Amino acid sequence: MEMLWSGWGDPAKAAPLPEPVAGLLRDLLGVKPVSAPPADPSALTVPASRLAGPALAALTEAVGGPEQLRTDPESRIRHTRGKSTPDLLEIRAGRLDAAPDAVLLPADHDQVLAVLRACSRHRVAVVPFGGGTSVVGGLAPEADGCFVALDLRRLRRLTALDTVSRTATLQPGLRGPEAEALLAAQGFTLGHFPQSFEWATVGGFAAARSSGQASAGYGRFDEMVVGLTVATPEGTLDLGRAPRSAAGPDLRQLVLGSEGTLGVITSVTVRIHPLPESRVYEGWRFPSFDAGAAALRRLAQDGPLPTVLRLSDETETMVGLARPDAIGTADGGPAAGGCLAVTGFEGTAEETARRREQARAVLLDCGGEPLGEAPGEHWARGRYSAPYLRDALLNAGAFAETLETAAFWSAVPALRDAVQRALTETLTAAGTPPLVMCHISHVYPTGASLYFTVVSAQGEDPVAHWAPAKAAACDAIAAAGGTISHHHGVGTDHRTWYTQEVGPLGVAALRAVKAVLDPAGILNPGVLLPSR
Ligand SMILES: Cc1cc2nc3c(=O)[nH]c(=O)nc-3n(C[C@H](O)[C@H](O)[C@H](O)COP(=O)(O)OP(=O)(O)OC[C@H]3O[C@@H](n4cnc5c(N)ncnc54)[C@H](O)[C@@H]3O)c2cc1C
Repeated sequence: MEMLWSGWGDPAKAAPLPEPVAGLLRDLLGVKPVSAPPADPSALTVPASRLAGPALAALTEAVGGPEQLRTDPESRIRHTRGKSTPDLLEIRAGRLDAAPDAVLLPADHDQVLAVLRACSRHRVAVVPFGGGTSVVGGLAPEADGCFVALDLRRLRRLTALDTVSRTATLQPGLRGPEAEALLAAQGFTLGHFPQSFEWATVGGFAAARSSGQASAGYGRFDEMVVGLTVATPEGTLDLGRAPRSAAGPDLRQLVLGSEGTLGVITSVTVRIHPLPESRVYEGWRFPSFDAGAAALRRLAQDGPLPTVLRLSDETETMVGLARPDAIGTADGGPAAGGCLAVTGFEGTAEETARRREQARAVLLDCGGEPLGEAPGEHWARGRYSAPYLRDALLNAGAFAETLETAAFWSAVPALRDAVQRALTETLTAAGTPPLVMCHISHVYPTGASLYFTVVSAQGEDPVAHWAPAKAAACDAIAAAGGTISHHHGVGTDHRTWYTQEVGPLGVAALRAVKAVLDPAGILNPGVLLPSR
């Protein structure tokens, strides 16, 4: 099945905004109706493909024939940009200047190598394409001329399973559910469940250092990776031969988060876990975000750590966004206010019960009020619905976008205030006062990630309208000591702040590595670092 070209996910699951919510948006935020995007991408005009002559012939040969090199408009539209709100607004408006000239579908590592060599020779830029769910402009390179999307969907096998070491080797084009199904058939799970789980791929998780909703229990994706194979224009890197190593700097860490700028990940070996016998999720109410955050910190620092641990602020709790599938229903959120926390426990029945009991004692001691399993189960059922809600908001004329960061615990309160203030002040000054919501969903002994959701009216030109608010939020993150991304990555959207974060020497070191692996500079130019 193909993703909805102008929005998110399975077109059959699209749902309109409940009328009470649409009414609230009109009354509270001044949201005005907008015209709907065309239902069919064939209504759009795509610039003519520039891939021709010897470059076209070489790339056709590299992927084994013309069926695996597509230049039809629909394939190119489906590989244009990613799924950030500006991406969706651009494509809905029919602005297709970022469409690739062709889509290539290699079958294996050797064909990927052949494509990269041919592209280097003919100076054709390459955008590795997994699920296409980037929200940071990671699929819209700064190419001067012709560029192609290298779609990895044909590389979707489980190629090795080591049940003794509990590792699995997965090809990069496997989507989250496909990888889980292959592992579940052998009694295992990876445990990586980002909100984009249904569409994002194993290669994309590694390339963008993804973090899933059960990161407290299973870790971030980069922590799961034990081995990588990478095709570069200059040859193959095979990395990772032991669980840990003192043999020099760990080159796997250079590839993780490289977002397709250094090579194409063609194989990922990950640690796996036995399928959990038992899964239980429950809700807790805290009187304030600070009280809830203190409880999460205590669990992160002193244990026991649940598998899922999240806390919504007062606004997110009130709006019901902690349980998006319940928005607009009578059961939209805890009626008595405060902040909703969700804890989840997965593992053997005995271990789950023990950790749950111990965590309960800590949460009670921190002032939490147990709400039972219903809010937790509601969250678990609706955990992949928020992106569908975004489509409904955009269709109703609202603007809705998310951004995220992370910081050490001591910096978290000021960081949250600074980002909220930057977004509120910028959008209010532009005549569209926003609703800004925040949650914590990834915790560590030393700090946590903050995730913000912004909803406002769209403004005349919504992409241009949002840009100053996004820049103000990024400036606020930098000034308050946060990182420019905890899990979405850098792409083209965050590179200004990323280059500040790593400094000029860091930028020069990265450029030197790229010059060795990709001397022609064909791989994702302008992603991570400006291309010039
Ligand atoms: C609604 C929504 C919810 C999301 N929720 C989360 C979340 O909970 N957690 C999270 O971490 N992220 C989340 N994301 C962001 C996104 O899903 C992740 O960054 C994900 O890892 C991208 O995977 P993908 O397969 O879609 O990669 P793509 O979007 O196709 O690519 C991402 C980047 O990696 C490069 N790339 C892709 N595959 C390869 C490869 N095999 N080798 C080298 N480079 C490659 C691309 O060129 C691009 O720069 C969300 C996005 C959306 C739209």
